[in-house]
Amino acid sequence: MKWPLSKKIENYLLACTIHNDEQLTTYCAGHSQLCCSKCVELNHSKCSKMTPISELTNSQPTDLQGLSEELETVMGGIKSLQINQEASVQSLQRTYKEHGAVMIEQLLGNLNTNIDKCCNSSVGTSNKNLKEEMCWSVLLILNIFDNITVKELNKMKDEVISIKGSITSSIHKCTSLHNDLLQLLEIVQKIGDNKELCLIASIKCKHIIQQALTLLGKSGKVFKVQGKSEYNVRIPSDSVTCDITGICVLPDGQVLVVDSRNDNVKLLNQQYQVVSHLDVNAWPFDICLIAPSEVAVLVDASNIYEVQFITVNQGKLVPGRKFQLQHECRGIAHQNGDLFVTSRKELYKYTLNGKLICRLYEALGNSNVSRCAVSPTGDRLYIISWHNKLLTLARDGTLLAAYTDPALGNLDSLHVTPAGQVLVCGGWPSTVQQVGWEGESKLATLATQEDGVRWPWSVCYSSTTSSIIVGQLRDHNILVFRVE
Ligand SMILES: [Zn+2]
Ligand SMILES: [Zn+2]
Repeated sequence: MKWPLSKKIENYLLACTIHNDEQLTTYCAGHSQLCCSKCVELNHSKCSKMTPISELTNSQPTDLQGLSEELETVMGGIKSLQINQEASVQSLQRTYKEHGAVMIEQLLGNLNTNIDKCCNSSVGTSNKNLKEEMCWSVLLILNIFDNITVKELNKMKDEVISIKGSITSSIHKCTSLHNDLLQLLEIVQKIGDNKELCLIASIKCKHIIQQALTLLGKSGKVFKVQGKSEYNVRIPSDSVTCDITGICVLPDGQVLVVDSRNDNVKLLNQQYQVVSHLDVNAWPFDICLIAPSEVAVLVDASNIYEVQFITVNQGKLVPGRKFQLQHECRGIAHQNGDLFVTSRKELYKYTLNGKLICRLYEALGNSNVSRCAVSPTGDRLYIISWHNKLLTLARDGTLLAAYTDPALGNLDSLHVTPAGQVLVCGGWPSTVQQVGWEGESKLATLATQEDGVRWPWSVCYSSTTSSIIVGQLRDHNILVFRVE
């Protein structure tokens, strides 16, 4: 443990992570960043709290033991995330194969029934007629299979490929982060007592631990609101004032809003202008992202509850496949091929093709559940109980935490950002809050009635524009809060 550091490790520690051939010289306390001369020149020319590294070393001792424990903990987290993601890929492929098999089985069933029918009604007709009739009906069935079923299977294949793509890129991030963590852990364990190097190592460790926590959906970074704008999402065909009950942001910054009062889904461009809409001829309630250009919308078509998939294609909304649910539905969320749907009483888990996997939660007594959300890694589920509680559940449905705050009033909407930040909105008094990822305590009040919030009914974070979008009841406008 006390062996002197090799020159190689020393060079690694002293190198700027952005400009690899430059040596670190300065620490910016404002950005808590280690800088080389290029960094200083490019990004920190206006920073006031800049200290040369050599002057920092006598400030405080570095807790190397604590750091190496922290490194080991996040490494464990990254490893199990990777294992879960690999399992998700497997289960996605299984779902797709199963769906294909069911379709083929249905086709064969259809063919058999039809051939039987032809044979039964063939009494008195010639063999030639029978043969012709059978050929026609088989052709007809195959044609329908080709036009509807094969199209649906192809759509699902695209979904699976796209979701697999994003899981794979996340797995790669895990691998490279794990390597970096391992390297730093080895260094921390061997570093000895060179104060300057200890300090640099500890700052680098903290940075990489923060990156790992973000990937694990446990960043804990608190949003600060920088400003607010409003955008009108009313379209000429809307007969009444909008109820925006669901919002979803695509990775490219386009936004989809669900207007449950005008029965449509609207597509907004990066400037929040409505560029397209889709009438769903039913009551749409909630929406979630499935793939980079596909969403799923919960619709209630006079007591027929459906999940309708919609693709965004060159600024247009195109309806895709759908499946029915055997229960009322209030909220929907998606993670790596698992769909989570709430009824008024329960939280269910489905596969992408609508196969029910299990019931994860059931509200007892006269308690109810409405919206749901899932953490970026899938290890935590959040639901709103109509007794104004935010409940946090483990992957298997075990209750982990319950949070309630009188300042929130009626809890109406819920969202989890890609870094795991939990946003909740209360209706009356109208408030947007950030809650810790553990679901136990408030981190910040982001907006209230004074900021123009009035019956918020949906909330979503856009990474592209660094803003929190709020949809409201009986309001043409959506609110966009720029955050840092
Ligand atoms: Zn640099
Ligand atoms: Zn700075």
